[in-house]
Amino acid sequence: MAWPTILKSTRDRVLPPNLANYNQFRESFSWRRAAQELTGLPEGNGLNIAFEAVDRHALGAARDHLALRWLGKNGEVRNFTYAQLMEQTNRFANVLQELGIAPGDRVYALAGRIPELYIAALGTLKHRAVFCPLFSAFGPEPIRARMTIGRAKVLVTTQSLYERKVKSIRSALPFLDHVLLIGEDSLPPNLPDTLDFQQTVSHASDAYTIQPTSPEDIALLHFTSGTTGTPKGAVHVHEAVIAHHITGKLALDFHPGDIFWCTADPGWVTGTSYGIIAPLTNGITSIIDEGDFDAERWYGILQSQKVTIWYSAPTAIRMLMKAGAEMARQHDLSSLRFLASVGEPLNPEAVVWSKEAFGLPFHDNWWQTETGGIMIANFAAMDIRPGSMGRPLPGIEAAIVHRKNDGSIEEITEPEVQGELALRPGWPSMFRAYWEEPERYRKCFAGGYYLTGDLARRDQDGYFWFVGRKDDVIKTSGHLIGPFEVESVLMEHPAVAESGVIGKPDPMALEIVKAFVALCPGYEPTEALRRELLGLARTRLGAVVAPKEIAFVASLPRTRSGKIMRRLLKARELGLPEGDLSTLEND
Ligand code: AMP
Repeated sequence: MAWPTILKSTRDRVLPPNLANYNQFRESFSWRRAAQELTGLPEGNGLNIAFEAVDRHALGAARDHLALRWLGKNGEVRNFTYAQLMEQTNRFANVLQELGIAPGDRVYALAGRIPELYIAALGTLKHRAVFCPLFSAFGPEPIRARMTIGRAKVLVTTQSLYERKVKSIRSALPFLDHVLLIGEDSLPPNLPDTLDFQQTVSHASDAYTIQPTSPEDIALLHFTSGTTGTPKGAVHVHEAVIAHHITGKLALDFHPGDIFWCTADPGWVTGTSYGIIAPLTNGITSIIDEGDFDAERWYGILQSQKVTIWYSAPTAIRMLMKAGAEMARQHDLSSLRFLASVGEPLNPEAVVWSKEAFGLPFHDNWWQTETGGIMIANFAAMDIRPGSMGRPLPGIEAAIVHRKNDGSIEEITEPEVQGELALRPGWPSMFRAYWEEPERYRKCFAGGYYLTGDLARRDQDGYFWFVGRKDDVIKTSGHLIGPFEVESVLMEHPAVAESGVIGKPDPMALEIVKAFVALCPGYEPTEALRRELLGLARTRLGAVVAPKEIAFVASLPRTRSGKIMRRLLKARELGLPEGDLSTLEND
């Protein structure tokens, strides 16, 4: 079915959108001019994300403006003005200084959405160490793998996460010098070889001068998954803040006085770029909700916090749709001005539904860990074509390309032809490397383009439409999962001879992780063994990465060179023609 273009993308509004005339704005845009929206460190000492996010407001007229409002899962509320956030992040930067952490050292965080995580992130950036967030639903194995790759020197986590997920792997992390434990339920943590976060931070000085920071100094390490091999650490630098700031303003339409709620977890890139940095650089108020998804709770937050801009994800929107538009209508959501979505394809139905339920459509936008910020978006002033990701941001050149067999790149200029989505490098939040993996990084570029690994098409008016992934990574509830990581853990079980993992389409989560397992001689494919394997995967990988389904098979299809043909497993699972598998790519 053809979906109608949604002509009026926002409620009658007092505020004019920041990006009113797309073509005109695009033509006059330059990254140099965008950078001038930020101040840089005093005395020309460079550019530091945390200074732009916190100190420059705290040292000016916005010092008492609310920066963060944290809503605890049990009803607690903690507020941080920009001045208070400066003080807290200064303290954390001083803690790192006292612990002997040098610029460039990696500080990891494994925590739910709690204030200490935000303080640690910004304090780390102030100290010019590298902040690396881990998703708190990861199990010990993804945590160990990521901490090993980046040789974490410091870990900030909670007592319970430490006990459940880190204690058992600590001896495998010899480079980890310090663990700062956040106490829970007002009890100070008391485990050997750890420090008490609250106590350490409260004893540190609240004055800290950010040292000269080059825009090219490494700021963030975000892990993402490929089809094969270990997770990849995408390296982002302090200059990324220019893109965080301007994309917040243009794609999310931040205006002074906005109350913004990004539902993403800082364990993933959206939760850092837009859950921490962009709203702060724009001097607005961010809502942080510790709780898990709950439709009634979410509507309650939108209403009570008078949220004006809401940034969420398709899986959550589908769950809200399931709860019914009536629930939305029972709340006073009149403060909402702009809704945006990212992370997976946003079904056209969801755009149309949200217009009914909220009087506002969700605006889909597209980006990925490597791009560091929004690249393609449905802007506030633009007519929405439901199902489309929108148009490239000012300063972003996007193309549809075809990678030829000889490795060269051909740009597809005709509309409506499917190819790989490619971007011309050069925007500030572009990843600068995969941590210590130059070859993997190099492979992402050809013909002057960064190749995204996504398949898409462009219509004649320049709107981009997502088609699928070129590789075998799995998107489940908005999280990117590498099949290899799952297969490796299943292979640890003595009964498993080989395993192949795919994303099986799911109406709610987009895909669920499904594993196919061939057993070693002497093992029977029993229900008890299936449960044992599901349990092993869950314990080792965590609920978000572990397979939801396991099927036993006699053997797995492989290419002549021995690679598991996951595409074929998927085609068989879906009863589709086995078709042309030549486009199958592995990285
Ligand atoms: P991540 O690096 O974990 O943020 O995942 C990035 C990937 O998520 C992209 O390469 C896409 O495959 C997918 N993705 C992100 N945004 C969208 C969107 N708006 N529509 C479709 N897929 C998306």
